[in-house]
Amino acid sequence: MMKSGRCKYCNKALVSSYGDMSSKVVVISDYPLFDDVRNGLVYSGTYGEALKQEMGKAGIQAQACKMITMWQHAPDEECDAQWHINQALEDMMDAKLILMLGTECLQAYSFGTANEYSGTIVKSKFLKKAVIVAGPSYAAIGKTPLGELRLALELFAKQRRKLK
Ligand SMILES: [Zn+2]
Repeated sequence: MMKSGRCKYCNKALVSSYGDMSSKVVVISDYPLFDDVRNGLVYSGTYGEALKQEMGKAGIQAQACKMITMWQHAPDEECDAQWHINQALEDMMDAKLILMLGTECLQAYSFGTANEYSGTIVKSKFLKKAVIVAGPSYAAIGKTPLGELRLALELFAKQRRKLK
């Protein structure tokens, strides 16, 4: 789904998704970061580029995935969080494989937090057709060792190969 224009609840500019919108392989994280908001495109800032690079190292082409965020602008207490959660859920309905990065989306769609389940496959009562790999927020790249993210990406890549 193309996201353009402004949020009907808080009037913030909506940030566009990245990659192949027809892909059944989805990468979702909590919200667009500062640079992404400025550029109007998710995963376009320093952290997003670092994530795409790490995905490449694991053998996954970022641009061949549907790359989205749960919040379609920076999180805002004045806005309707449930609307964002539902929009992103619609974007994931056809997915066969999902990499879910960060505690907010893991809490919204599955049963746990990134701390508990990072690098493992989690269940979602909303997305029963998809294999969901949990990982840490990519906003931590550069601040913490990459081990947890790499583990999640390796598992994601392994599941990706199984799809073929
Ligand atoms: Zn809003």
